[in-house]
Amino acid sequence: MKLNNQNVVICGAGGFIGGHLVNRLLKQGIRTVRAVDVKPLDEWCQKSPEAENLVMDLREKEACYQAAKGMEVVFQFAADMGGMGFIENNKALCMLSVLVSTHMLLAARDSGVERLFYSSSACVYNGDKQTSPDAAALKEEDAYPALPEDGYGWEKLFAERMCRHFEEDFGLQCRIARFHNVYGPLGTYEGGREKAPAAICRKVIEAKITGKHEIEIWGSGNQTRSFMYIDDCTRGVQDILESDIREPINLGSSELVTINQLVDIVEEIAGIKLNRTYNLDAPKGVNGRNSDNTKIRQYLGWEPSIRLKDGMAKTYKWIESQILAPVTK
Ligand code: NAD
Repeated sequence: MKLNNQNVVICGAGGFIGGHLVNRLLKQGIRTVRAVDVKPLDEWCQKSPEAENLVMDLREKEACYQAAKGMEVVFQFAADMGGMGFIENNKALCMLSVLVSTHMLLAARDSGVERLFYSSSACVYNGDKQTSPDAAALKEEDAYPALPEDGYGWEKLFAERMCRHFEEDFGLQCRIARFHNVYGPLGTYEGGREKAPAAICRKVIEAKITGKHEIEIWGSGNQTRSFMYIDDCTRGVQDILESDIREPINLGSSELVTINQLVDIVEEIAGIKLNRTYNLDAPKGVNGRNSDNTKIRQYLGWEPSIRLKDGMAKTYKWIESQILAPVTK
C-alpha cells in the first residue's frame, strides 16, 4: 500500500508524534486527514487548519466509531503517557489506554478500514534484558518471555497482541512499531510528562537564564539509551504502514549514549558547564536500552540515522524559544 489519496485518521493528533505526522501527510498532498485528540484544541502540540480537527475521548466506543467512519487508514497514537516520572507513578492511567486501543480496533474492523498502524514501545521488552548499561541491543524477540515495564509496557504488549489477533481472525491489516525514545521540537518539555531530552534542555536553559549553574540528573547518569529524532520517527511510521511487515518491529536510533553524555551534548549546544547532582531516588527506568536495527534494515533498507547532536540542537533551540517567548495571553 502507498499512501496517496486514502482517507486517514490520526488518533492522538494533538500529541507530539501525531501532530508531526498530520503535518507530514498534509505536506505530501493527502487531502483527507482527520485529527482526533481528547485535549482541548488550544492544548494541542500543533494543529493544521487543513485537517479535520476533532476533540473526542477515544476511550468511548462511540467516539472511535465516529473517528473511523469513512476512513481507510488509522494511525493509533492516542495513549495516556509521558516520561518515566509519569509512567512510574500512573500505572492505572497508562493501562486504561487499553480502552482506546480496543475500541479503535473494533471501530476499524466494523468501518471497513484497510490498515491500522499501532504505536507500541520499547517498554514492552523484558526487564531482565536491560539490567546493565552495556546490555545487548534489544531484538524484537526479546519481548518474550514477557516481563515488560509495569503498567505502561503491559498495556502496549497486550495491544500488540490484540492487533495480531484482529489481523488473524478478522482480516484487519495491522502494522506495529516499537518506538524507542522520540524527541524533537514541539514536544512536552515541562509539567511532569516530559522525557529526558526535553527535560535536560529545559534544565540547562533555566541554569543559563538564572545563572545558577547546577543540574539535577535522575539516577546515576550512567544508564544508557538511544534517542530518535522526530523526522526519523514519522518517516519510519509511514514506511512501516506502507510495508508488508507483519510483526512488531523496532523503530529507534541505535546511537547509544549515557544520560551523562546526553547532558554533555546539551551543555555543548548551550556553551555552558554545570555542576551535576544525582537524584538516585528519582524514577530512572531500566539501566540500559538500545534498539537492534537488524530487522528494519532488512525490511526497509533504512534505519533512523539523524545524529543525536543535530536533533538535540534543533530541540534545544525550540525549547529555548518557548521559554524566552513573551507570554501573549
Ligand atoms: P503524546 O502524549 O504527546 O501524545 C498522545 C496523545 O494522545 C495526547 O495528545 C493525548 O491527549 C492523546 N490521548 C490520550 N488519551 C486519549 C483519549 N482517550 N482520546 C483521544 N486522545 C487521547 O505522546 P507521543 O510522544 O506523541 O506518543 C504517541 C504514541 O507513541 C503513544 O501511544 C506513545 O505511547 C507511543 N510512544 C511514544 C514514545 C516517545 O518517546 N514519544 C516512545 C514509545 C512509544
